[in-house]
Amino acid sequence: LVNRKPEIQEGRLKLPILAEEQVVMETINENPVVIICGETGSGKTTQVPQFLYEAGYAHGKGIIGVTEPRRVAAISMSKRVATEMNVSSDVVSYQIRFEGNATPDTKIKFLTDGVLLKEAQQDPLLSKYSVIIIDEAHERSVYTDILIGLLTIIVRQREKRGRPLKLLIMSATLRVEDFTNQALFKHSTPPPVVKVEARQFPVTVHFNKKTLSDYVTEAYKKTCKLHRTLPEGGILVFVTGQQEVHSLCRKLRRMFPYIEGQVTIEEGKKESRRKRKKKEEKLKEEKSQVSELPKIDLSRYKHLPVFYFFQRIRMGESKPDSSHPLYVLPLYSLLSSEKQARVFEPPPAGCRLCIIATNVAETSLTIPNIRYVVDTGKTKTKFYDKVTGVSTFRVTWVSQASADQRAGRAGRLGPGHCYRLYSSAVFSDFSKFSPPEITRRPVDDLVLQMKSMRIDKVANFPFPTPPESEQIKVNTDQILHHIFGTHFIDMEFKSDRHRSSPVITALGETMAWFPVSPRYAKMLTLAQAYKVVPYAIALVAALSVDEIFVDNIQPVDAEGDVTLSLSQIPYKFNTRTFHQGNSRLLGDMMLLLTAVGACEAEGCSPDFCSQLGVRVKAMREIRKLRIQLTNAANIAFKDSSLVVDPKLPPPTEAQILGLRKIVLGGLADHVARINPAPPPGTEKAEVKRLRGSFQCMQLEEPVYIHPESSFYRDTQGVEFVVYQSMVETSRLYMRGLCCVESHWFPELAPSYC
Ligand code: ADP
Ligand code: MG
Repeated sequence: LVNRKPEIQEGRLKLPILAEEQVVMETINENPVVIICGETGSGKTTQVPQFLYEAGYAHGKGIIGVTEPRRVAAISMSKRVATEMNVSSDVVSYQIRFEGNATPDTKIKFLTDGVLLKEAQQDPLLSKYSVIIIDEAHERSVYTDILIGLLTIIVRQREKRGRPLKLLIMSATLRVEDFTNQALFKHSTPPPVVKVEARQFPVTVHFNKKTLSDYVTEAYKKTCKLHRTLPEGGILVFVTGQQEVHSLCRKLRRMFPYIEGQVTIEEGKKESRRKRKKKEEKLKEEKSQVSELPKIDLSRYKHLPVFYFFQRIRMGESKPDSSHPLYVLPLYSLLSSEKQARVFEPPPAGCRLCIIATNVAETSLTIPNIRYVVDTGKTKTKFYDKVTGVSTFRVTWVSQASADQRAGRAGRLGPGHCYRLYSSAVFSDFSKFSPPEITRRPVDDLVLQMKSMRIDKVANFPFPTPPESEQIKVNTDQILHHIFGTHFIDMEFKSDRHRSSPVITALGETMAWFPVSPRYAKMLTLAQAYKVVPYAIALVAALSVDEIFVDNIQPVDAEGDVTLSLSQIPYKFNTRTFHQGNSRLLGDMMLLLTAVGACEAEGCSPDFCSQLGVRVKAMREIRKLRIQLTNAANIAFKDSSLVVDPKLPPPTEAQILGLRKIVLGGLADHVARINPAPPPGTEKAEVKRLRGSFQCMQLEEPVYIHPESSFYRDTQGVEFVVYQSMVETSRLYMRGLCCVESHWFPELAPSYC
């Protein structure tokens, strides 16, 4: 059935899960739902799909689906399994958002959990599949959690229809109680758990005495020291994000240059021409600087790529040490899969392997040849602002379970060592497990997603760990109704005793395509009717990125941006139109659009951006988001073939009017009305308190326009406004304002009728 190459077969036999094949398969054959638990590297992801394939699970009416929380795992695991089975990507394929290689011949399909959820939206019984494997369930991504709940329902429905579906939940940690709990399996016995014992050598854990805040520098120093002093064996370093990975790679490569191989040259080749030109220019610039530097013994550097040489002089670092070459490779989610594949290959002779990785190396990918782990103990986590739904990334401590997973990476080859760059006291304060994502995010988003999958009663849904039920109730009934009203929800009266239950409409379904919070998704969806999609995309992208203007953060940020008053922007770049009509009434939203258009017109040059008081990085994020949202819009809106024009010509008066309306549509629960002048005879203090104040629907006390807003000095003709967020300092201030008209309400803000 499968014709594997001998060397592959040999490698497989060493994996702990191969010894358990019979147990695993018998348990699966006899039970609709099975949990498989085994250490990272035991062979779950690569082998279990093959067991199922060989047992004939892809030879009937269905195929084998494997979900991964990360795109990188979906792609690289599909490639690995295809290689092991000696078949093409037509048979073992992957599907991630907007990208995939599945064919009608596909038998094993790796997909991200989000993509499978989308499939369930179209095909509620997932009838294409005979088995679904939920991999990396311990990561507890929101989609994984929803999928598990959903699949327990689907498994029962498929059984009733005589077309059983098998569900496998695979996890790297032993904390599986959440997957076997009563809520999930009300109607059946909890599923059996198969444990795979991995061959794990002892790992000695070394804590730092002190915990220093600059963990990247600490990681650099520690890695240098380990490399200089320890016997052979690869080093795996955990940091939090792509940028840290790159900066650490650069520093280490500079310090322990590896010359023979093609690492740096090869990368240079792949650079786009524009990038190379930029680099050359930079080099020229640096050359001119170098001529003013004190004399340097150039003979020492003859082996070094010239680029590194100049950089080193500038940075004033200690001398590179080419007697100890280090083969440094980056590893993070967004890295191309070819580059990721390099971590699986042995390093060049005479070199020590050193991998600088994010969380992705914790459990999703197993890297061979690692003996030492350097753990910063940090991770980047997404947090959601409950008010705006805007997500931000923050660096936090990992959980104890994660730290132990990281340490475990050192014990695959033989006894290993893990160097934690924090003290044992700090470690003991870590939470035991990371909380499931579902408990950390605002639920309106989630409810929307689930409604669009026709899951009506979210409060009764069998979550492995339910979000606070109070929150679900409040959100379903209030927020969704306020924002979406009859547009989003048809109140459908069920025949049973239960209250009417909201059901998603076509609008809601379109909204579900956009990877932003529901209120922004609604703006985008409405934008089609008002023919302002590209502007709405730019606006939503800007609204979804934090702290665009330097003003809002510190006076001078790490990148050396200088402060410039926000209020100068419109006057500089849109003087002609900004003071009048709709353009003025679009208010702070117009500011954002103008900033995006102006910066893009100048190619987001750092000089220009800082002159404007705009963060360059924010602008780049906005650009990426615009591309992503444009792709989504092309799928959501039939017959749409939008392209991103970064420069965005100034919108016409009619388009600006349309934008004001869609902003109201999305922020319909964030409305405020200006307070009338108090009647004569009112106390002086009260008159003062109410001056320039507004009343909004949720709060008793008056609210005010934030001094940064374009309406701060001028509220002429303004009666109703919507705001993006509310901040409380000495008073309650509304930020991100747009002026709206009351006669738009019946249509766009139903709750006001
Ligand atoms: P688990 O899912 O239990 O963590 P995997 O099935 O991912 O384990 O990995 C099993 C083994 O296969 C590991 O030892 C890993 O090194 C190896 N492996 C996985 N992917 C590749 C690859 N692309 N190239 C070479 N070896 C790989
Ligand atoms: Mg795995």
